[in-house]
Amino acid sequence: PSELEDLVVLFDVRGTDTPTPDAEREAALQAPKFGTVFSDHMARISWRQEDGWLDRRIEKYAPLQLDPATAVLHYAQEIFEGMKAYRHEDGSVWTFRPDANAARFARSAHRLALPALSVEDFIGSIAALVRTDIDWVPSGEDFSLYLRPFTFASEPFLGVRPTAEAEYLVIASPVGPYFAGGVKPVSIWIDEHYHRSGPGGTGDAKYGGNYAASLLPQQLAAEKGFDQVCYLDATTSSYLEELGGMNVFVVMADGSVHTPELTGSFLEGVTRSSILQLARDRGHEAVERRIPLAEVVAGLTDGSVREIFACGTAAVITPVGRLAGDSFDHEVTGGEPGELTMAIRAELTDIQYGRAADRHGWMRRL
Ligand code: PMP
Repeated sequence: PSELEDLVVLFDVRGTDTPTPDAEREAALQAPKFGTVFSDHMARISWRQEDGWLDRRIEKYAPLQLDPATAVLHYAQEIFEGMKAYRHEDGSVWTFRPDANAARFARSAHRLALPALSVEDFIGSIAALVRTDIDWVPSGEDFSLYLRPFTFASEPFLGVRPTAEAEYLVIASPVGPYFAGGVKPVSIWIDEHYHRSGPGGTGDAKYGGNYAASLLPQQLAAEKGFDQVCYLDATTSSYLEELGGMNVFVVMADGSVHTPELTGSFLEGVTRSSILQLARDRGHEAVERRIPLAEVVAGLTDGSVREIFACGTAAVITPVGRLAGDSFDHEVTGGEPGELTMAIRAELTDIQYGRAADRHGWMRRL
């Protein structure tokens, strides 16, 4: 679309003088190691309080040189996003609901007192980077190019106040199937003690500090043999909120689909909103409400809870096969992936990979 063209041309492409050799890139795309290998370029825009956003460019992927006093290193003033570029059968490359990520990025910026980037610059930067590194978008089922936009406080200053300088970058890392060898249900530990955020905090911003706060509980759960942690609300420790990097859904025996209502203390996932829509399209009642842990535990005992799944950009939908906490330990759906879980998963990935009609206009060609 010419509209996208207008956004992309704002970026000055300063190509790398040391591109990855074709054979090396091809090898990386065959067996991608998520988050360890990055494409040849990155998108970048700089911000100065007095000038606003400046110098839109695509430049060589390279280390950043930072003054030791750079604010982000001390006060963690930063935000990020996570999305993917998907290659369709005909070779074209698409993203999923980038406007939703752009809007969330602007909300995160507001909460962290960082300058908000326009939707146009957000989408333009992604398109400019993906077009430059188009050969880095893998093909094949469940392969994609993961995109990581982020903004950080780059001013060298130790005072505690919003930064007067910031850098926005987008880096890209090829990813393969989250579940190599088939979708496998995960085990979830419900943490009744640690919280990643609370009322009035930063939980609904995609902010690094939330993830830093989740590392210890995640480590403790892993030591107990669990894959992921599910957090509860910080006020009463009794309602489900989300996992460290995914939202959560409960499917009841009557076919209704439930997910925690947005409270401001956890992230509004793009996958979550999309699943609510797809569930309704299928004729399921889809409910956003406070979900008491006690109700879920009772439901797993009496059969009124049929499936539980987690969702997010990385794994799309992850079935939950076991749910445990201080005083309970239950199998979910007999430890197998739930039927509705897998049906919605297939439907969503079919839309993302262009195998099914994009009836909601979620896909954007890059
Ligand atoms: N919660 C958290 C804490 C996350 O990090 C993510 C991943 N962005 C999600 C939920 C799911 O969000 P999305 O569906 O937009 O990837």
